[in-house]
Amino acid sequence: MKKLLLAGSCLLVTLQAITQTSFSPQVKKYIDYDTASITFTHCRLADVKNLKVLEDMTVIVRNGAITSIADSKKLPPPAGSTVIDLTGKSLLPGFVLLHEHMYYAAYPADFSYLHVKQLPFTFPKLYLACGATTIRTAGSVEPYSDLNLKRDIDQGQILGPYMDVTAPYLEGKGTFFPQMHELNSPAEAKAFVDFWASQGCTSFKAYNYLDKATLKAAIDEAHDKKLKVTGHLCSVTYREAADLGIDQLEHGFSVSTDFVPDKKENACPLGAPPIASADSPKVKDLIHFLVDKKIIITSTLAVLYNMTTLDTTMRPEVLEAMSPDTRSMFLNVYTKMRNPSGNNAMLEEMKMEKKFSDAGGLLTVGTDPTGNGATLAGYGSQQSIELLTKAGFTPIEAIRIATYNGAKALGLENKIGSIEVGKTADLIVIDGDISQNIENIRKIIWVFKQGVGFNAQKIFSSVKGEVGKY
Ligand SMILES: [Zn+2]
Repeated sequence: MKKLLLAGSCLLVTLQAITQTSFSPQVKKYIDYDTASITFTHCRLADVKNLKVLEDMTVIVRNGAITSIADSKKLPPPAGSTVIDLTGKSLLPGFVLLHEHMYYAAYPADFSYLHVKQLPFTFPKLYLACGATTIRTAGSVEPYSDLNLKRDIDQGQILGPYMDVTAPYLEGKGTFFPQMHELNSPAEAKAFVDFWASQGCTSFKAYNYLDKATLKAAIDEAHDKKLKVTGHLCSVTYREAADLGIDQLEHGFSVSTDFVPDKKENACPLGAPPIASADSPKVKDLIHFLVDKKIIITSTLAVLYNMTTLDTTMRPEVLEAMSPDTRSMFLNVYTKMRNPSGNNAMLEEMKMEKKFSDAGGLLTVGTDPTGNGATLAGYGSQQSIELLTKAGFTPIEAIRIATYNGAKALGLENKIGSIEVGKTADLIVIDGDISQNIENIRKIIWVFKQGVGFNAQKIFSSVKGEVGKY
């Protein structure tokens, strides 16, 4: 039986390797390594499952899968294998990020209209360059663009991470987002889920104005198809959504309306929800309730942090990446949205996420490259991971949240999310020590997707001055 299983998995790896070799010329430009066998020697290895950083390790990859891991002194590279000496460098699993979009904010200067613009050329590149090998798109406004992107990335035609494509938002009446459909009834929600699942969407996200009955119909239909539902909710509280069977909740606790005094059922209260203290008994209760219900929470600290005046220095690369008109829109929004009134909420939010994780909750991380427009794909993705250490996580814990936890949330933890024998060789090489300084994740050299090594800095350079244009 064991032999049969092994033969089966070898066959799978070989098939994947064959389909992956047909890269288009524009993808090939960024490939530094595309060979049947690679041996990484003398690396500092992020063992995210055991929350350890192992020194002087060798990792052997064959046909896109990890085949051996051991101390470099005990594991010589096999004959014919391409050896990459990683002395002084760190080897991480590829990031698995759960709140991503292929669109970006495009506001007029007076904020009179909320609009987002699909960026199918620059965003997939930025995601891959930052180390994201798998992303979930957490709500789509151009679903066919997202679905076709996924197909083209899988076929090696364009650069990008593997995608779990989320359907268009499940939204109710009252949306402030002119690009969204408003669902009118539970029956319509059921048909909507059916349709988008049939088109190839593999996850769903419920949004602000959905009511309980419509949300319930969507959850039941998605679960019937073995698909998951996450939510950025408002009309429905976290506790209510958990009772209805939702799988996941976005933006940490920052959009929870559970503590709005006299909240009306199925109504989204105006304004930001009141800030609850992370140490209060009611927050403690909610955290334990969600943990008991096995609800997954996605942290999106970068998009929230950029609305505060807490210590943060804008990376010059972020502004350099943008096209001139996007940069001016961005600077306009960024200066207006940064406000000291957000600082306290941010600090409480970080505490709640840490408490949720400490209580045994599965915390994942995502970028949300939208909202106020201060967060770009790629750079913002790294920032959202880095900010987890401000919430009290160690660097290796933050990396686990960005890798293994994400894989677990997608049900892919047996294939990706950690560096283990038998897993897909989705790996990141960092020039520096990630055990001490999380900001070293910015010094990314290569991103390996199924054993094929892409030059991260070359990809970043290729979008310089272009982000926002397309
Ligand atoms: Zn979002």
